[in-house]
Amino acid sequence: MLRTLGPQLKRALTERVRFYHELGIYDFYRRETAEPGAPEHSEAISNPQPEQREEMTRTARVATAVAVEENMFAAPKPEAAVTDPMTALRLIREDIGDCTRCRLHKQGRKQIVFGVGNPRAELMFIGEAPGADEDEQGEPFVGRAGQLLNNMIKAMGIRREDVYIANIIKCRPPGNRTPERDECETCSPFLMRQIAAIKPKVIVALGAVAAKTLLAINAPMSELRGHWYDFRETRLAVTYHPAFLLRDPRQKKEAWKDLQMVMQELGMPIPAKVSE
Ligand code: URA
Repeated sequence: MLRTLGPQLKRALTERVRFYHELGIYDFYRRETAEPGAPEHSEAISNPQPEQREEMTRTARVATAVAVEENMFAAPKPEAAVTDPMTALRLIREDIGDCTRCRLHKQGRKQIVFGVGNPRAELMFIGEAPGADEDEQGEPFVGRAGQLLNNMIKAMGIRREDVYIANIIKCRPPGNRTPERDECETCSPFLMRQIAAIKPKVIVALGAVAAKTLLAINAPMSELRGHWYDFRETRLAVTYHPAFLLRDPRQKKEAWKDLQMVMQELGMPIPAKVSE
């Protein structure tokens, strides 16, 4: 139901939004609020406990907490008038600066890992967060998981340089822990702007953290995989994170099925057989 805001609340919101713009945050997400009589799980979506993050109810998936861009208050982003994706990405990177917007800047990160690849890529892979190798080199997926991702990309008949690779958050969490929800919320607006600049045809979310953050739904990987999702102007598929595949190589054939689905969507020829 559409509700109008009172002038006082509108002023307060405008102030708050201006403050966020000063921090470089432009996209805002409104979580669904429970309608009277709505099932209990809406609370679990809007305020999950850490242990609930991996545990999803079927009903929660249906009650997707839709990401809503609040255009009403949106200020022009630096890249708004730019049509060249490479320039747009440069402006977004400049806007991030030497970021101190969340706690990770003082928890040992060496550098911001922005993203890498073709600014006009049709296919974009999104992982979770930089690890030690990525933090060292300033590039996503350059460690062991990155080697496997490279092999997955190669198996699709394309090169790493043809796609764009990024993460939900741009700084390494200490000890490679899972990113906290507020870290994802602070950082992911910049990823959304990268996606808007690149305009890929297909996004592949690597693992549960990427999938759940992008789709704002809570479901196990077994439910998240194997479907197409409409995500902004793009189609989104979910597959296993390469780090998970390193731990459980038997799942590689399942990941290959996901990639075949992606190749079909992009009209790419599907190799008959791929060696492990
Ligand atoms: N894992 C990720 O999710 N991202 C990286 O960049 C590296 C490992």
